[in-house]
Amino acid sequence: MTSPHILVVGGAGYIGSHMVKMLAAQGYAVTTLDNLSTGYRDAIVGGEFIHGDLADRPALDRLFAEQTFDAVMHFASYIQVGESVKEPAKYYENNVTNTLNLLDAMVSRGIKRFIFSSSAAVYGDPHTVPIPENHSKDPINPYGRTKWIVEQILSDYDTAYGLKSVSLRYFNAAGADPQGQLGERHEPETHLIPLVLRAASGRAPDIKVFGRDYDTPDGTCIRDYVHVEDLCSAHRLALDGLMQGKASSAYNLGNGSGFSVAEVIATSIQVTGCNIPVTDQPRRAGDPPRLVADARRARAELGWHPQFDSLDTIIAHAWAWEQKLAKR
Ligand code: UDP
Repeated sequence: MTSPHILVVGGAGYIGSHMVKMLAAQGYAVTTLDNLSTGYRDAIVGGEFIHGDLADRPALDRLFAEQTFDAVMHFASYIQVGESVKEPAKYYENNVTNTLNLLDAMVSRGIKRFIFSSSAAVYGDPHTVPIPENHSKDPINPYGRTKWIVEQILSDYDTAYGLKSVSLRYFNAAGADPQGQLGERHEPETHLIPLVLRAASGRAPDIKVFGRDYDTPDGTCIRDYVHVEDLCSAHRLALDGLMQGKASSAYNLGNGSGFSVAEVIATSIQVTGCNIPVTDQPRRAGDPPRLVADARRARAELGWHPQFDSLDTIIAHAWAWEQKLAKR
């Protein structure tokens, strides 16, 4: 039997690159499609690479005519909440219109398995925490809306065209390849853990804490940090489910435990042994005080068992990667 062939769209980015590496290591045939707008060619460490853009429908049609794919994983989206508020058109065009191009090209070629990188941002400001999958969907920014719109499109495409999909709602993706080969390289970086570690390595003067007056035990926001490798293992399990003919579904991916910004900084000081200067800043617009996943469904239905669920390990892996970047 030949190995399943998976198209990883956005395989040069942070999570996509870890996925490509895992799939290739596990014997899948992998092709990455990426426009390298935010990803890196040298982050693709397995399979074949095609430089291409989802806006280019004829190119997608050619790709699907030339090669056979058993499933598509889609990681290629813009992810900055603040930017999505200022430039919604950019977000709707890339995250929705370009995803539609991809889905329509798949449907026209009869490719019927799709795994989608969704987000906890679909829930907006939650009224219950931990957040279960059936919590109301009320995104509070264009980024979150693009993710929820695509999830709804996927539901309609299943009904009409039989496209089976799994939407994986990430909480706070963090950490890096345990082997130290890959990691997070967003420019500009806006995420807490890589920014804290830049302050530890000296690549940034300090870490800015956005608000200490939230209704949380230490006043800083609480998030559910989940290791990138564990996110990828959930994708692998979701893929296997679709290959076995399972129905479309959506899952939260988080560890179910929350850490405050202050706790992340304290743990980073411990893990790195470095001094990390802190500067207090006002709240960042649109930050809910507490986002923690109820991820029991992924554990029960996908058989997902996060391997790197301690904050220390997540930060230690991210720190190894930061030190590598700092030496470049
Ligand atoms: N945060 C912070 N300083 C930073 C970056 C983030 O205090 O330089 C806070 C942010 O306000 C939020 C938490 O860290 O409460 C996680 O933010 P991040 O951007 O990493 O992820 P998000 O939860 O927004 O997806």
